[in-house]
Amino acid sequence: MIRVGVHAVRGAVVDAQTRCAHWAGPLDVLAILFPCCGHWYPCHSCHEEEADHPARRWPARMGDRQALLCGGCGETSSIAEYRAASACARCGGAFNPGCRLHHDLYFAPSA
Ligand SMILES: [Zn+2]
Ligand SMILES: [Zn+2]
Ligand SMILES: [Zn+2]
Repeated sequence: MIRVGVHAVRGAVVDAQTRCAHWAGPLDVLAILFPCCGHWYPCHSCHEEEADHPARRWPARMGDRQALLCGGCGETSSIAEYRAASACARCGGAFNPGCRLHHDLYFAPSA
């Protein structure tokens, strides 16, 4: 576990920018808050390995939640903000475009 600003990020974190054992590329600097436990993890696999419960996804209506944490600057973004952007609005750090392929692991589709 590491601390990014006031937030504790759990899981197989490998550096101070929230890269993890599963995703450690140059752009993999985001952690996500899981609605099931209220804990930050770098990725779904980290949650699966460490949490004692199945992950829950964010319902579509909760797009205003500050659930993304940028390891580059330590600031949070809302789900809606994150999904509409390709880089952190605070520090300009690019998000890994490949993460979009896994959004269904984190965000439930709108009903
Ligand atoms: Zn959880
Ligand atoms: Zn991970
Ligand atoms: Zn940032």
